[in-house]
Order: sequence, then structure tokens, then C-alpha cells
Amino acid sequence: MFATLSDRLADTFKNLRGKGRLSEADIDATAREIRIALLEADVALPVVKEFVAAVKERARGEEVSQALNPAQQIVKIVNEELVNILGGETRRLRFAKTGPTVIMLAGLQGAGKTTLAAKLALWLKEQGRTPMLVAADLQRPNAVQQLQVNGDRVGVPVFAPEPGNGVGDPVSVARASVEEAKRKLHDVVIIDTAGRLGVDAELMKQAADIRDAVRPDEVLFVVDAMIGQDAVTTAQMFLDGVGYDGVVLTKLDGDARGGAALSIASITGKPVMFASAGEKMTDFDLFHPDRMAGRILD
Ligand code: GDP
Repeated sequence: MFATLSDRLADTFKNLRGKGRLSEADIDATAREIRIALLEADVALPVVKEFVAAVKERARGEEVSQALNPAQQIVKIVNEELVNILGGETRRLRFAKTGPTVIMLAGLQGAGKTTLAAKLALWLKEQGRTPMLVAADLQRPNAVQQLQVNGDRVGVPVFAPEPGNGVGDPVSVARASVEEAKRKLHDVVIIDTAGRLGVDAELMKQAADIRDAVRPDEVLFVVDAMIGQDAVTTAQMFLDGVGYDGVVLTKLDGDARGGAALSIASITGKPVMFASAGEKMTDFDLFHPDRMAGRILD
């Protein structure tokens, strides 16, 4: 948890205050505390090991050259390493040069994709874009209706399969939606795809087929920040099965563990691009690595 992580680091740094330089024993003690704190925050073990090793390495290197306040020195290093792993600068959406920009969402059922789709649409609309939502989640009985309700809430049209219009399967829906967007001059298409409760081969294939059919400008992996260590397995499987350009963390308003953000970013090497933090349509923003690092440290 964030609080535990922060408290632990604060305590460690307090113990270091007043010492002129970091001894090897200080570095080991600090590393041990950071390790425990990260594990408690539900960061995956390989990520913890790599992170701690990187911090130790840098702490050692800087110790020789500078006589800064050691506490500040460690805070700075930990902060910079966190920001680095979380993607450095905020990664912005890439828009298509011509024709509609196609954004495809993938993730497990319950991750918050349908909600996120509408939030993203509203966010884009507020920037003067003319998005269209696409209901390509045809697995969950209520998904299409839920997207329509959310679309209405944010005043964004929803493209959905209709009985008899010949687009009954998710791939056809996605393909037809891009044509519809061109006709109606929508500049962004946001495709909500099906998520099952667990990762399964059929789901992956369906998502990959949609990807191949519409060649999205951005594939975003949507993941619930509350699922902790499980996020890593899921993130990796979606990366192998579908592939994606960026990550969206949802439910950051809950007792969200920094662990998921850190682990996913570190293991997949993909930037976290957006943060969703609440049930309101406006509870959504770009993800800021520096702010998340600050939140972990404060
Ligand atoms: P999907 O199955 O991936 O499409 O997930 P939904 O969009 O249906 O979301 C699943 C549940 O999580 C719903 O009850 C949403 O209201 C809720 N939810 C989605 N995003 C957030 C969020 O950022 N914060 C909170 N607290 N709840 C959320």
C-alpha cells in the first residue's frame, strides 16, 4: 500500500539523516527497507529485485563523488528510478495523420474498459475531437447497452451491432465502425472489446482478429490497479496475445497499490498513459509518472 511504502521509506531516511556519507552498511539497510516496502506494496518480486539493485548501484556511485545529505540523495535516486520505470515523460496519444484515429481497448472483464471508453471519449471531446464509441464487446450480455448508456452520459454516439444489419460479430462491427466514422466524419474511434473473467485463447484470438481488421493507431491495455501481482501475469499475456502500445490503470481511487503500476511498466516496458480514478465520467486524466512516484514516496 502507498502509506506503508511511504512510511517505511520515511523511517529509513530519518535514520540516515545526519550522516555525512552513505556507508556500504547504510546502503544495505536502505535497500532492505525499500525491498520490504515494495513487496508490501505488492510489486512483483523480479521488479523489486531489479529496482533495488539499480538504486544500490546508483547510491554507491554517487556516494564517492558527493557529500550530499544522504537522505535527500536516496529520495532523489528512488524517485528518479520510479519515474523511469513508470515511463519517464507522460506518453501522449498518437493521432492518425489522415482518417479516423482508431483506439482499441483490451483487458479482462471488470477491468473498467466500458467505463473507461466513455471517459476517454469525453476527454477527447473536450479537446475538440469528435469521437465515436464502438461496442465490440458482444460476450457480456449487458456490455452493448452499458456502453450506450455511458455514451449518452457523455454525449458521444455509439456504433453497435443491430439485428439484421449484417454486422453481428465483433470483427465485422469493428471494421464497419471505421467505415461509419469516415462517413460521419468522426476523427476518433474507440473500440471496446470483450473481456472474459480469465485470460483465454479464444478471447485473445478475437482481440487479435479485431486488431488485424482495423489496424488501430493505439491499442490500450486496461487494467484494474487493485489486482496487484495478478496484473503482471495478465499484462504479459495480453502483450503476447494481442500486443499493446500503452496501459490504462483504472480504480486508482480505491486502495490502489502502486505495485501494479510499477510491476506492469517494468515487466512489459509499456508506458502507463492514462489513469482512471472513480465512477464519474470526469474521473480520468493522463497518467503522470512523476506524480505517481511522488505518491509512492510521500
Ligand atoms: P469492463 O468489464 O472492463 O467493461 O468494466 P466496467 O467498465 O463495466 O467496470 C466494472 C466496474 O468497475 C463497474 O462497476 C464500474 O463502475 C467500476 N469502475 C470502472 N472504473 C472505475 C474507477 O476508476 N473507479 C472505481 N471506483 N470504479 C470503477
